[in-house]
Amino acid sequence: MLRALCALSLVAALAACAPAEAPAEPSAAAPTTTPPPPDPAGIAANELGFVPVLMYHQITAYPAGEYDQTPAEFRDELERLYREGYRPVTAAQYIAGELDLPAGTHPVVLTFDDSTGSQLAFTGTGAVAPDSAAGILAEFAARYPDFGPVATFYVNNEPFGDDPRALPWLTAHGHEIGAHTADHANLSSLDADNVQRQLVQNVRAVTATGATVRTMALPLGIYPRDHALATTGSWDGTSYAFGAVMLVGSNPAPAPYGAIDPGGVPRIRSGRGTVPFDSAYWLDWLAEHPEQRYTADGDPTRISFPRALTAELGARWADRANPY
Ligand SMILES: [Zn+2]
Repeated sequence: MLRALCALSLVAALAACAPAEAPAEPSAAAPTTTPPPPDPAGIAANELGFVPVLMYHQITAYPAGEYDQTPAEFRDELERLYREGYRPVTAAQYIAGELDLPAGTHPVVLTFDDSTGSQLAFTGTGAVAPDSAAGILAEFAARYPDFGPVATFYVNNEPFGDDPRALPWLTAHGHEIGAHTADHANLSSLDADNVQRQLVQNVRAVTATGATVRTMALPLGIYPRDHALATTGSWDGTSYAFGAVMLVGSNPAPAPYGAIDPGGVPRIRSGRGTVPFDSAYWLDWLAEHPEQRYTADGDPTRISFPRALTAELGARWADRANPY
């Protein structure tokens, strides 16, 4: 039990473990490696559980619609996520199964669509605007260093007011930049050539800043008539192949090691009960059904889950399976 507690929290480990027992001999110095992760059964680890992928639009003092939130509402949601043990990962990390989280915590993917100045802007001195989404995340991380404030920003061309500082700043701070088409196109209204043009021109604009585009979000949640073009295509000699296509609405996403369809990852609209099946609804649901939620085992090399769920594990992950 003591080992489990120590592994759960570095703070707890330092407070509870370090000074209590002096080594019997001077040579038996404290190990420099981190303690082994706890017994997965003891913490009800379930790395085949659901992951909330939250979708945000404008963070503004003057919300114009049900997609917008105030800075206070966004701060409140971050507080709730932190308090309930969620830790952010990017969409690219999620879809690749690169979820290196402390034992007992739960992944959450924070996504921002449309690259508005409410998400990232700079003050006159060049600092990030404190009430922008990026500014709020940075402030939150300063208070809770174990939160790891990474998000995925789905951008159009000329993002964030066409400020040349914006995309390099996001990359430098560990955020992911994803595709959202050049012009926020309704892809169902375009022919195949123009669908691919919208995505290639968007990918080119992002990669020109040094970033790599790994995932995309469908504008308006609408597929092109040929759904496959949302994932792969080419135009004018440039091709694209996204690891995930993000939808709009309306339920938690499957674990990356389970029954996930990378061609259509569901996202949950952030909200405080203001729209049906929003984040308030689903965070309540996941809190009431903890056995359905992704809970990390603390060891990124193995995938732990109750043995009864074995059939849900994707075949390509079998060599990392750790059923209990
Ligand atoms: Zn959009």
